[in-house]
Amino acid sequence: MGSNPYSESEAECESLQKIIDAHVHLSERGDDALIRFARMNGLRYTMDELLGTMREHKIVRGLLLSPPLQGSKPLPNDEVIALCEKSDAMLVPVITVEPTAKGDTAFSTGDLILSHPLTLDRLANKREQLTIVLCHFGNPWFDDVAELIYKHPNVYADISGLITPSDAYADKFLDWLARKISEAIYYAGGAEKVIFGTDYPVTTHTQALALVSRLEIAEGDKEKILWRNAEKVFRL
Ligand SMILES: [Zn+2]
Repeated sequence: MGSNPYSESEAECESLQKIIDAHVHLSERGDDALIRFARMNGLRYTMDELLGTMREHKIVRGLLLSPPLQGSKPLPNDEVIALCEKSDAMLVPVITVEPTAKGDTAFSTGDLILSHPLTLDRLANKREQLTIVLCHFGNPWFDDVAELIYKHPNVYADISGLITPSDAYADKFLDWLARKISEAIYYAGGAEKVIFGTDYPVTTHTQALALVSRLEIAEGDKEKILWRNAEKVFRL
């Protein structure tokens, strides 16, 4: 492996007052299906570790989404809420409404057709006022998501969970990702619809912030991605 593409210095964004992480997982349960990602990243995947790392990176809020449990059920909403109550007001719950129908490309049995972001186009046409935040920028369909966020006034995309542990081509991959997301922002005519997230423990805070600092966009647009857009969309 060559030089580490996720150096701490690159992860620092000097001009920032604060960051909001719009996509975090946690359960503190042994049957959490994301434990394997935590192990690969060398993370303990605990409340203490998460809050400590958030403070270290000036992340003032994290939106807590249910992690999948073994057997592919999500963590129940009451447990998500209980974790947020123990978090010193740093975590805010995101409730799971339809936990059965899913297609998830993170697991080899996921259904790619159901995962495609264009499946949301008709819904967005029919429910123009509905705010939709697509996760992982629709990975790997970045160009389709560029069109969705350009076309629909209330469709957004987060950039969470795009980097998973790998040795080969890690630096090239980070460049490629940064290019795809930068191009989507050029296509959409700005960064108003792009939201920062880590997907902890799938992607580390350092990796997720390194991706933002590699985007070839104006500093003001990075600020929108790192907190302004999330503050508006989630009314934080
Ligand atoms: Zn996630």
